[in-house]
Parts: sequence; structure tokens; C-alpha cells
Amino acid sequence: MIYDSHVDTPSELLRSRDIGIDNSNGHVDFPKLRRGGVDGSFFALYTPAETAPDAATVHALEMIAAVQDAIEKDGKAAITVSPEQAETNRKNGVFSVFLGMENGSPIQESLSLLRQFHRLGVRYLTLTHNGDNAIADSAAEAKTWGGLSPFGREVVREMNRLGMMVDVSHCSDATFYDCIKYSKAPVIATHSCCRALCGHRRNLSDYMLRAISDVDGYVGINFYPFFLTDDARPFPGIREIIDHIDHAVDICGIDHVGIGSDFDGIEVTPTGLDDVSFMPRLFEEMKLRGYTGEQVDMISGKNLMDVLARVESVAG
Ligand SMILES: [Zn+2]
Repeated sequence: MIYDSHVDTPSELLRSRDIGIDNSNGHVDFPKLRRGGVDGSFFALYTPAETAPDAATVHALEMIAAVQDAIEKDGKAAITVSPEQAETNRKNGVFSVFLGMENGSPIQESLSLLRQFHRLGVRYLTLTHNGDNAIADSAAEAKTWGGLSPFGREVVREMNRLGMMVDVSHCSDATFYDCIKYSKAPVIATHSCCRALCGHRRNLSDYMLRAISDVDGYVGINFYPFFLTDDARPFPGIREIIDHIDHAVDICGIDHVGIGSDFDGIEVTPTGLDDVSFMPRLFEEMKLRGYTGEQVDMISGKNLMDVLARVESVAG
């Protein structure tokens, strides 16, 4: 089973990509997902940090509409909100499209809008992108709140109540630790790598990886070459992705690691993984490194479904 915790395809839909056909450029479309044996992916509703709040809300709604249009046209995919639904889809050959929101600015300063996006199917919120917002500080700026804002703490509490996953990818270190402190549900990083192997500020330190493990959370390893090695020369590939998986497994335990490819959100891809259809190569290579079939299955998707179930179980 393969479930990917982060692709940026909704932004491409707004740039008129038809994901019903096999595109010659671009990383994700239904033919490539099916060729790659992918069962489901979190489609990130990404809003740039500089977008004004009202425009951000409209932008997020437009992306959801575009995703729903593409699903209707395909006929063999569905907006999916739970592991049980994903399993039913898998058995019926239906592709599971999960929705995540990347950057909380579309909810403005309204828990009511947060609840509305949850009703529309959004099951995680990446609190920030590359800019501080009303909810929290980002890794890129980190100068407004010193972590979560007072409103951000309310957002985390409401997300816990709804069963929506708190995603700390792109957050500042202080925001990360605030989420660990204030969230009653496991915290996730949908598309982040290990700082011990590549010093990028977006990557997670060993302390952070341990904290994710302590709260029974999840980290999805990102495929972006510049998060994999410090100088990205020669261009990293499958071997380096597995190095990050190995390290995260070492620190977090094998229950807490998955894949968050960031396909369609990265301008360059790792060697040997040009798009989502090549995904099986990664898992074949993991087996050559000594992972059992069962362990590969956990990392390729089961752990992501399990953390979603754990977050749902805390919901009130
Ligand atoms: Zn991102």
C-alpha cells in the first residue's frame, strides 16, 4: 500500500493541468499515480504566504473545487477522510484523494472557517508556509509570535476536537515545540527531512524527531534534493532518501516514518524519481537495504493511515 502525505497538485490544477491524462511534464496525474501503484495522496491546498486573507480563502475554495472537478471527470477517485474509507477505496480500485491545507491563512482568524474546511474534507493543516501568519511563526521568518500565537493555540485545540492533524512542516522550531506541548493528539510533519543529514532549517533535528515519536506522531520524508544533502552535488537520489528514512527510523522508531514526496511542489526531482510513477523503485531499493516487506508497507503508507486513526480517536 502506498499513501503519500504531501503533493502540491491542486496548485497545478489552477494552472490548468489536466490530471486525467499522462502529462509530459509535471509529477502527478491519475495515470502516473496508477502506474506507480499509489493508493492515495494528500493533495495540499497551498496558499503563498503573501496572499491577503480574503483572497487566500477564495484561493483554497477554488482549489477544492478544481480537485472535485478532476475527481468527477476521472470517475475512479474520491475525496477521502478516513483510513476505513481509504481501505474500501483500495479494494474497489478507487484512488483516495485526501485534502490537506498548506498555510492556515485561508481560515483567516476564524475557527468557524476552520470547521468549514474540515466539513469540506480537509484532514490536516500545515500551520504556516514560508512566512509567519495569524496562527504561528514559520521556519523562514520566525519573528512574530515566538511559536504559536494565542489564536494558534485555539486552532490546535479545535483541530484536536475535530480530528484534524496538526502539521508542523514549515513551522519554526518554537512553533514545533508549542504544538508538541499544546496538542492533545499526535503531531505530524507531512514533508520534512532530517537535520542531522542536511542542515536546512526546514528539516527536523533529532530532538524534534524524538518529540514526534514521544507523542506517537509521524514524519513523511520529503524528496526535495535540497533537503536531502547540504550541497545537493552530485544530485541526490533514492539512496539519499533512504538514508533519511533510515535515520528517522533510528530516532523515531519504524511506526512513525512515512513518505511526503512534495511532488509538484519541487522544481527539481531526485535522481531516479522523476515523477510519482517511479515510486516503486524506492521501495524495491529499501528491500535491498534489508527492510522486510512488512516494514516497507508501514513506511510506504500504513503509518500515515495509522496516525490519522490515532488523531481521529482523540477527537471529541
Ligand atoms: Zn511545503
